[in-house]
Formats: sequence, structure tokens, C-alpha cells
Amino acid sequence: MNASPAGSPAPADNHAPSYYAATAGPLPAFPALEGELRADVCVVGGGFSGLNAALELAERGLSVVLLEARVLGWGASGRNGGQLIRGLGHDLERFRPLLGADGVRALQLMGLEAVEIVRQRIERHAIDCDLAWGYCDLATRARHVAHLQAECAELQALGYRHELRLLEAGQMHEVIGSERYCGGLLDMGSGHLHPLRLVLGEAAAAQALGVRLFERSAVTKIDHGREVCVHTARGRVRAASLVLAGNAHLGDLEPALAGKVLPAGSYLIATEPLSPALAAELLPQNLAVCDQRVVLDYFRLSADRRLLFGGACHYSGRDPRDIAGYMRPKMLKVFPQLAGVRIDYQWGGMIGIGANRLPQIGRLPGQPNVYYAQGYSGHGLNATHLAGRLLAEAIAGQQGGGFDLFARVPHRRFPGGPRLRAPLLALGMLWQRLRELC
Ligand SMILES: Cc1cc2nc3c(=O)[nH]c(=O)nc-3n(C[C@H](O)[C@H](O)[C@H](O)COP(=O)(O)OP(=O)(O)OC[C@H]3O[C@@H](n4cnc5c(N)ncnc54)[C@H](O)[C@@H]3O)c2cc1C
Repeated sequence: MNASPAGSPAPADNHAPSYYAATAGPLPAFPALEGELRADVCVVGGGFSGLNAALELAERGLSVVLLEARVLGWGASGRNGGQLIRGLGHDLERFRPLLGADGVRALQLMGLEAVEIVRQRIERHAIDCDLAWGYCDLATRARHVAHLQAECAELQALGYRHELRLLEAGQMHEVIGSERYCGGLLDMGSGHLHPLRLVLGEAAAAQALGVRLFERSAVTKIDHGREVCVHTARGRVRAASLVLAGNAHLGDLEPALAGKVLPAGSYLIATEPLSPALAAELLPQNLAVCDQRVVLDYFRLSADRRLLFGGACHYSGRDPRDIAGYMRPKMLKVFPQLAGVRIDYQWGGMIGIGANRLPQIGRLPGQPNVYYAQGYSGHGLNATHLAGRLLAEAIAGQQGGGFDLFARVPHRRFPGGPRLRAPLLALGMLWQRLRELC
């Protein structure tokens, strides 16, 4: 996963050699856990889910220890597309028989609140993470246009308070210098940011609130009971409650969660800095954008005017040998004008896909003091922040909130067992893509 521009892999415990790692500024180091600690809550995983749960718990006066196997932000949180987009999951109407109309509406509203949590977090802790507002969904087919029209009407009915505008084919040049798109939905309440700087800002905020943060402290075993005991190579933590926030990287640590999230590789390239004129030609309003396909392209400009172009979805567990060679033709299909432009960074990361695409937030069956949040299916920047809040509310004893709604949704294990899960899903995705071409 950690292919660098020169092709040399980064040490497995360090950040992927991404544009973000190169521009995050000084990377703080936290100690590895040694000996025994006690806390109200132990959090496993130092991405957005774990850090936000820790922050929100500390804000409620609980003592927290957070254990990260590698370095904070090493997983998807520190290396994603940086697109902060409203909403949760796909087609929430599917949950109407289970949750009722009010439940679906509550999920829809939480998908909007999730972006506000990020906005407030950044403001409250003055986190410098290149936050820029403005996002556009791009349509490549007529049916995508119809979908965006429905999405726009739904958001308006929910009382969305930010500017929304449907764009026709002839207006697309206002937002993108490409001939590829036949419509769009502009949303000034979503945007983009430098995700690793946000991780590090949130880690600093958590530490200032008393959260004890540990890196290179992989949890290898959990003893369940009224008090949980969590083991690492050289230490352990005893806590009243446990939060599992390892997402696509949790593996088989907790059998009740194994197989409910399938890791899928997604890849990004970053160009050299573009001239102001070229950057303005590509994305004149500095929007983040995604198309509507199952395996989508997502891209945006960085603060120093590089194009950060992402896409693909690999289930094999094997990354393309040459990420730039793989991603560049996709970028040139959108922007042929970048043919002579150098690629400075290339990297990938693991998305945690859930079978029904709704974030999985809940409590382990039979273990009422063990909570989890995972499975954001590639749309987690906002949802992880919501998950952190919901977990903290539930652990602090608040009942009847959003946590209970999420916890009512069952999550299937992917079929096929550890060996066949990924190939079966790859077949399913191929089927979806073939349908897309019809
Ligand atoms: C390439 C890519 C692009 C993406 N682009 C976007 C985007 O533009 N917008 C968006 O909204 N979402 C995007 N996503 C999804 C988003 O990044 C994730 O949903 C989100 O970051 C998940 O956060 P997390 O904290 O749950 O998981 P992670 O950030 O993956 O963190 C989990 C952490 O848990 C640690 N861990 C696992 N097991 C253990 C253990 N046993 N002991 C200790 N620690 C452990 C891991 O080391 C890891 O650091 C993207 C994802 C990828 C991979």
C-alpha cells in the first residue's frame, strides 16, 4: 500500500508516503504502552473514529486511554481523499421497514449534522487543515442526473441550510474544465480538507483534555467481563468500557465483528503544483468532486494547487504495482490537458465496506460494555465524527439518541469466509459495473 514516487515502500508502521504525510508539518510521536493502566474507557484505533470517540468522552469527563497499532492517522483517516461530504450510507429509504419514516429522517438529518461536527471541531480547536467549502456531484449519465434531482429535492425537504444548485450540461464549465459530465449538484455545505492535519489537530485536542494516547501499541487480545482487559505486547489496560474503532484494519481481533467489514483498496495520485491558470481551468471554484458511478473518480485541488485524483476499488488485498501508472489514465480521461504534468505522490488505503453501506455503530451482543464503529464504505470523514459523538453519548448513559437507531440495524457478515469474501464481492461489483454500462 505504501508505494512512494520512487517505488520504495515506507516502513509498515509509518505513514503512507502520501501528499498529506509530506505536508502535515512535524509529526508528533506518542509512546508505546508499557505496564498496566486503568481508565473509564479504552479506545482501540487512532483514526477519526477512535480519536473522536476519545475526545467526546473526555469532554464528558471520562478518563480515556487510546491505543493505536501504528501511528495516529496511519489508516484511512490520514490518507483519504479529504472530501467532507454530507450524508450517510446509500439509499436510506431501504431502512424504512426497519426504522420507520421517522428513523430514516433521523438518519438523513444526522448525515447533515455530521459535517457540522467536523466544522465545529475545526473551529473550536483552531485546527489548520486547509478547510475549503464547496463540493459538486458529477453526472456522467442521464440517470445520474435524475438521481441528483431527487437528492436535491430530498435535501431541500430536510431544510438543508446551505446553497444547493442543480447544474445542466451547458453549465458544467462553471465548475469543471472537462467535457465528461452532463450535469451536477453543487453543494456549498460540503467541502474538502487536509485529513492528516485534522487527525493531528484532533489528537492534540484530545491530549489537552487528558486522553492518554499510545502509538505502536497493537491490541492483541481482549478479556471480556464487567471490566475489560485489553492486552498489547508490553502492556494492558483495564477499563469499564471498550470502543473498537479499527475499521478495515481490525482483522479478527473481535470474532463478533470479523467479516462484517471488507477491506477494499482505493488509490490516489497528486500532481506537481499546477499554475494558477491551469488549476482555475480544471476546478474554477476549487470544489471537491465525485462522479456517481459504483467505482467512482473523486478529485480536488490541494491548498498548493496540486490535483489530488482518487478512485478504483480493489478487493484482492494486492495493490497495483505502479499506482501512478494505474491512476494516471483515469485522470487523463477527465483532464486530457494534464498529459505533460508530473505525478509527485502516489498512495493507497483501505476502505471498510459494509454489506448494506450504512455505518456500523453499536454494542457487541452479550458484551454490553463493548462498543464499535466501522464500515463507512468510503464515505467516512463526516460519519466517523458523528460516530464518535454517538458512542460517547451512549457510554455516558444517554438513551434514546442516534446510537440506539444505528444499533437497531443488523449487519450481515460477508458470505464466503475469509478466503472467498473478497472474490465474491469483486464479482458482485463487476456485475454492478456491467449494469452501469447498459
Ligand atoms: C484512499 C481512501 C480515500 C478515501 N476518501 C474519502 C473521502 O474523500 N471522504 C470521505 O468521507 N471518506 C473517505 N474515505 C473513507 C474514510 O477515510 C474512512 O471512512 C475513515 O477515515 C475511517 O476512519 P476510522 O477511524 O474508522 O478508520 P481508520 O482511519 O482506518 O483507523 C483505524 C485505525 O485502527 C488501528 N487499529 C486496527 N486494529 C488495531 C489493533 N488491534 N490495535 C490498535 N490499533 C488498531 C489501525 O492501525 C488504524 O490506524 C477514504 C478512504 C480511503 C482508504
